[in-house]
Amino acid sequence: VFDMLVVGGGPAGASAAIYSARKGIRTGVVAERFGGQVLDTMGIENFISVKETEGPKLAAALEQHVKSYDVDVMNLQRAARLIPGDLIEVQLESGASLKAKTVVIATGARWREMNVPGEKEYRNKGVAYCPHCDGPLFKGKRVAVIGGGNSGVEAAIDLAGIVAHVTLLEFDTKLRADAVLQRKLFSLPNVKVITQAQTTEVKGDGNKVNGLRYTDRASGESHDVELEGIFVQIGLLPNTDWLKGTIALSRHGEIEVDARGQTSVPGVFAAGDVTTVPYKQIVIALGEGSKAALGAFDHLIRTSAP
Ligand code: FAD
Repeated sequence: VFDMLVVGGGPAGASAAIYSARKGIRTGVVAERFGGQVLDTMGIENFISVKETEGPKLAAALEQHVKSYDVDVMNLQRAARLIPGDLIEVQLESGASLKAKTVVIATGARWREMNVPGEKEYRNKGVAYCPHCDGPLFKGKRVAVIGGGNSGVEAAIDLAGIVAHVTLLEFDTKLRADAVLQRKLFSLPNVKVITQAQTTEVKGDGNKVNGLRYTDRASGESHDVELEGIFVQIGLLPNTDWLKGTIALSRHGEIEVDARGQTSVPGVFAAGDVTTVPYKQIVIALGEGSKAALGAFDHLIRTSAP
């Protein structure tokens, strides 16, 4: 039986595991892929105190730090079910079952992709998903933002202050973002909005993005836009399918947490991109992971026999 079982091995899970292990309690980590989204990242320039690093390097450092403590790391294992109780049970897809007094869920999220030719090939070579992370890399260049919801319009406004020109493409006949954001967007001189636009291809020169192709859904005609970057803003999907019906989720599928990371299930805490906490970033996930572990530890000392 674990005192604290962490599900997820990204920044939030790694941080939770270290804070737990440093309390001298029995700690385990189950992760489908230790490192999480960080493994898919190229340059990281906003990991404060480290001017510049790379995803795989940071992921290896996270794993090394966790493994320097007495933590039972179960990598390449996927949690399939959580069963609440005095002892919380986490069933794995492999058929194994783990029991713990407290659980910290840090299963993260993934960006929804356009699923068009060139998108995967040029990921990190012009195709980006996070304006806070990659915006400055496109200083003075031309970019597109795909998606006219709140996140797409926020990204376009943000990027317009950094890059030379932003083309925002929306599939529908109109933008879905809040009116106040749309007003701001349409007031900017270096933004062009194209509605009824279905992106069909990311184009590149073999090394990096140099354009995109879209179909005007009204006329059926195909058009090309020359640019250097494409920010895809069509949704972030939290990895909570395995929790539906067990834990309170927001309408976007994020785990609802309070200020200590406590979920709707006693003894179960959550942290990072999988939760309702806004702004999905590495430094935020690290902080939230430590907070959820401290919340879980507080719960443990109040509920379990010495
Ligand atoms: P994740 O990193 O998503 O980790 C989730 C963990 O849970 C993984 O180990 C995963 O395998 C595991 N998992 C999922 N489901 C299960 C399951 N059912 N059972 C067991 N394990 C499971 N942020 C920045 O601050 N700066 C950047 O420059 C930056 N660039 C980015 C670039 C890209 C391409 C991407 C995709 C993201 C970027 N981010 C960046 C965002 C950052 O990576 C995330 O905010 C951060 O990794 C979230 O950490 P997390 O621990 O909450 O989740």
